[in-house]
Amino acid sequence: MNGNSVVVITTGGTIAMRDDGAGAVPVLEGEGLLGESANRLPEVALQSEAFANLPSVHLTLTQLWQLRQRVGAHLADEAVRGVVITHGTDTLVETAFLLDLTLASPKPVVVTGAMRTVSEAGYDGHANIQQALRVVADDEARHRGTMVVFTDEIHAARYVTKSQSHSPATFRSPNWGPMGRIFGTEIVWGWTVTRDWVECEQLEPDVHLLMVATGTEPLLLSMLVEQRVAGIVIEGVGANRVPPSWLPWIRRATAQGTAVVVAHGTAGGHASDGYGYAGAARSLVEAGATLARGLDARKARLRLMATLGQAGRG
Ligand code: ASP
Repeated sequence: MNGNSVVVITTGGTIAMRDDGAGAVPVLEGEGLLGESANRLPEVALQSEAFANLPSVHLTLTQLWQLRQRVGAHLADEAVRGVVITHGTDTLVETAFLLDLTLASPKPVVVTGAMRTVSEAGYDGHANIQQALRVVADDEARHRGTMVVFTDEIHAARYVTKSQSHSPATFRSPNWGPMGRIFGTEIVWGWTVTRDWVECEQLEPDVHLLMVATGTEPLLLSMLVEQRVAGIVIEGVGANRVPPSWLPWIRRATAQGTAVVVAHGTAGGHASDGYGYAGAARSLVEAGATLARGLDARKARLRLMATLGQAGRG
């Protein structure tokens, strides 16, 4: 069943911000944020819901899961065609990925935002909201999971990354490019995704993220292993590689039941190499680690939180 109502959930971010002299803060929400977008697409009936009004780095994991539950409840409603979420761009990709990973509905979910506040020239919020609504209204948007719509591009949540700190054209999918483009009012789809879905009722919060750089000693890793945390995600260098001094700690972690995932350290990438040296893919797998195939470290962290949550450790 495909209703014609679209729910827009506002959460804050630059798209909701105005600067009244003391620095930009989120103030707009609900109908006030949607502005004219609400009247421009007569084929969809808009319903707005103010979930939060926060810079995205203020969102907690608990709030993120509550948002996931709200989106899931709306998608289960027969009258709802899809959901648009307005969000701060700093953690937008993580929210989009979590929704994509844990909501199995064929209905489209689109996350969007803005890089300029409503007080700046060239505010991009209304254009992005309008294109997000256009995508949700499109019949071919179904079965594509959660998408990020920004600057007339449609990105799959699984592949997209924020690539620039200030440019409005910040969202990029380094491995595969955008899944579709919006040319004015016309949507052209390029390819589709095979969904990767984890059935999970909660996230395991005790998962920690570490980054490798040249010559990094495994001090933080050893502390986490000694704490017997539930999971550790390591952003390696290149295609999932770590210094050899990290291997004994990874071995010890996996032997005691701490899940260890190693992600690539490049903008795009995939876990695959033919190296035989300590710290490369083969040795990590032998030490009991899992390689995050095609996911960057932040996404790999959410996936591990979901799989450990699914296993009931949360
Ligand atoms: N600092 C903002 C946020 O993530 C950035 C943005 O929305 O573009 O909330």
